[in-house]
Amino acid sequence: MDVKTADFRQRARAALAQPTLQRSLQGMRRAMPALRSAALAALPDHAALRDRARESRDHALAHLGHYLVAFESRVRAAGGEVHWARTGAEAGAIVAGLCERAGARRVIKSKSMVTEEIGLNATLAARGLQVTETDLGEYIIQLRGESPSHILAPALHVSLAEVGAAFERHHRRSRTAPLTEAGAMLVEAREELRAVFRAADVGITGANFLVAETGAAVLVTNEGNADLVASLPATHIVVTGIEKVVATLDDLGVLLRLLARSAIGEPLSSYTTLVHGPRRATEAAGPAAFHVVLVDDGRSALLGTPRQEILRCIRCSACLNHCPVYTAVGGHAYGSVYSGPMGAVLAPAIDGLATTAQLPAASTLCGRCEAVCPVAIPLPRLLRDWRGEALRAGFTTPAWRRSLRLWQWLAAHPVLYRFVLGLAAGGLRLVSVPARRGERRIRRLPLVARGWFAVRDLPAPEGGSFQARWRARQP
Ligand code: SF4
Repeated sequence: MDVKTADFRQRARAALAQPTLQRSLQGMRRAMPALRSAALAALPDHAALRDRARESRDHALAHLGHYLVAFESRVRAAGGEVHWARTGAEAGAIVAGLCERAGARRVIKSKSMVTEEIGLNATLAARGLQVTETDLGEYIIQLRGESPSHILAPALHVSLAEVGAAFERHHRRSRTAPLTEAGAMLVEAREELRAVFRAADVGITGANFLVAETGAAVLVTNEGNADLVASLPATHIVVTGIEKVVATLDDLGVLLRLLARSAIGEPLSSYTTLVHGPRRATEAAGPAAFHVVLVDDGRSALLGTPRQEILRCIRCSACLNHCPVYTAVGGHAYGSVYSGPMGAVLAPAIDGLATTAQLPAASTLCGRCEAVCPVAIPLPRLLRDWRGEALRAGFTTPAWRRSLRLWQWLAAHPVLYRFVLGLAAGGLRLVSVPARRGERRIRRLPLVARGWFAVRDLPAPEGGSFQARWRARQP
């Protein structure tokens, strides 16, 4: 994966100036919270279900080795093969080897964040394989040579006109009029992809879950493309993270009831398929060869640490859709495959903190992400945890370190601390200006927080510091 997260601030500024992206994000801010709330409100046992989901994910992670081996043995019993990859590069080499073994030239894929994480398309293309994404959003960004900007809606940042232009550039068709209508684009993409589906030698999917009890790889999509990828080519390869395993079908049922509701505000996604190995002798269709590539890529290093909780993530995207930072700047600003609150916690574990230290800082810690997470991941605590590590490792700016040291010193001297805060509150009131309804607001400060005051202001403190006002209220 091409990691560029050190540029977060420049990328965020660029994202704020992109009208198409901003329109899409505005739509997301308006629609997604309401859709999710309505879907979950219709679930009478939502809180209990969330507890069960968290417990089932914790149980699987606490016994990860056991359930992965159980999954492997069931896949083998069904005639499939399981491959273990310690790193992204190893996973890429395994998949490339399997494609070569199959004598493949054409590969089709359904959407998979793990394959984005390990840069699989580039690895396969370097071996001369022709790789085509079949999820509509992924197909669009593949034509445009881009990476996904959202884990479920990868082409969120692309306008309809830009989709039409990409199709006109890449689809060899004679036209009498420009392609401007969404329905026509959909039909055209479907026609183009049908031929690709038929000609493919290998199909590569991710897996939303792996079920240890039955050896199933679970594919959840709204387009049904993953089912074609898994069943039409002679070889099906599942590439997924080791943390995706769940113990039983009952656990899967609990997670599926929460996944689509949290993601898109629907009771279920359109297609949920459980794949169990290659075609059997009694079956008329399906792949002759079935492989599962289990990718570690930094995940096992989180086990047994407080950061293990991020491995509960089921990639529903609710934390992105509700995050005031993600919904302002979109996914590309993060420069990592995974964006939003879950990405800011996961990316440092996968890519290392040296290139991702700005991501945990890209959060207001408002807590919405934890509140909406269907598996109750304490994202704000994990973000603070990475921030502490970034500070200790020297990945923050010298000015920031000096400010924190000053704050720490002041906080250790309570009398002085109260005096300075009192002075600061008085100073802020002095620079404030009259606003509506007798309020006073601070519009700018000399030398500091210019970025903040460029787009918003602050209410002026009334009656001294918070501590002084608190003390004054005590009986
Ligand atoms: S962290 Fe929680 S809310 Fe965010 S994608 Fe993962 S499961 Fe969904």
